[in-house]
Amino acid sequence: MSGSALYETFARAPLAFEKGEGVWLVTKDGSRYLDFAGGIAVNSLGHGHPKLVSALTEQAAKLWHTSNLYEIPGQTRLGERLVAATFADKVFFTNSGAEALECAIKTARRYHYVNGRPERFRIITFEGAFHGRTLATIAAGGQQKYLEGYGPKVEGFDQVPFGDMEALEKAITPETAAVLIEPVQGEGGIREVPAQTMRHLRELCDRNGLLLILDEVQSGVGRTGRLFAYEWSGVTPDLMAIAKGIGGGFPVGACLATDEAAAGMTAGVHGTTFGGNPLAMAVGNAVLDVILEDGFLDEVARKALLMKQGLAAICDEFPDVIEGVRGTGLMLGLKCALSNAKVNTALREEHLLAVPAGDNVVRLLPPLTVSDDEIREALRRIRNAAQGLSKAAA
Ligand SMILES: *Cc1c(COP(=O)(O)O)cnc(C)c1O
Repeated sequence: MSGSALYETFARAPLAFEKGEGVWLVTKDGSRYLDFAGGIAVNSLGHGHPKLVSALTEQAAKLWHTSNLYEIPGQTRLGERLVAATFADKVFFTNSGAEALECAIKTARRYHYVNGRPERFRIITFEGAFHGRTLATIAAGGQQKYLEGYGPKVEGFDQVPFGDMEALEKAITPETAAVLIEPVQGEGGIREVPAQTMRHLRELCDRNGLLLILDEVQSGVGRTGRLFAYEWSGVTPDLMAIAKGIGGGFPVGACLATDEAAAGMTAGVHGTTFGGNPLAMAVGNAVLDVILEDGFLDEVARKALLMKQGLAAICDEFPDVIEGVRGTGLMLGLKCALSNAKVNTALREEHLLAVPAGDNVVRLLPPLTVSDDEIREALRRIRNAAQGLSKAAA
């Protein structure tokens, strides 16, 4: 054995945490870090939220797992609540984002299959996209660095430049089934799809009989100040994958669909052992209890503005370190003038955790429960880091 017992697939920071308290992570020796990585947009309500802890422990004392051979009341309830709060009529629960995407891709193909158009199986995606690490989702994401060495790319994904509607229109063929897009690219560098482009996409899909699939695995569940980012554009999809924030740290994902889009998903055509199990559903319901509370999302939007204004001031002060600020809600990105890895490390040295992304961006994805004071503290640390780097560059 060489080195650790674990696959070497992660370039981990040399840090381990023992406990979490809201927006803070604490190491064994008591060092405290402000967590603006949020487990990559997963810890939507921070660490150790009392409502999530009691939902999980109460369920753990009753029943963990039965499989989908039987009815799961918590699953029915979370499904009904997601349906009530979104465009969707139907929900399939998974354990991860990639599985939610797999379900969306399969649902789109089955839709055309049962409608007598089995030749329609191709899905158009966008450069810079990230949809997960399964064989189909790396094909959907189309990033060479994730595809290399894994044999033939899964057939049926066509990629066009981000936001290029002309290229999109040209890529539509009689075999096209759907268009798949993140309303805000996360891993791609916090790149937003303008509302006008979202409307254009919907119109193109309608005109060509295609399904519109949104990947809101990162942008969903309150992250942008609305329950889902699509709400900002007024455009509704036919299918949507969610995960990350809905579990608040417990692995939960879901594929949401209209009745029409889900028409092909009949008994036996898809399945999961763990997806939607009682523990996951107890936590998912508790997350929704908090996020759907009156005024919660307005507070996210208000705090996001405070954060964005503070970041813009830092950007003005140290343009040799931070070129620009992007994103909506608490899904923000610093476009770096130096290498984003360097900026991310400098932030970590200030005990502020962030996440590098594509396009030389550092992502800030704090828990939605972050306070004004914690935002001000984060801004102070980001400014310190920028100042240090700015001097170092001089
Ligand atoms: C994280 C992510 C995924 C993959 O989710 P996993 O739970 O890691 O499988 C898919 N799409 C987007 C937009 C993501 O951010």
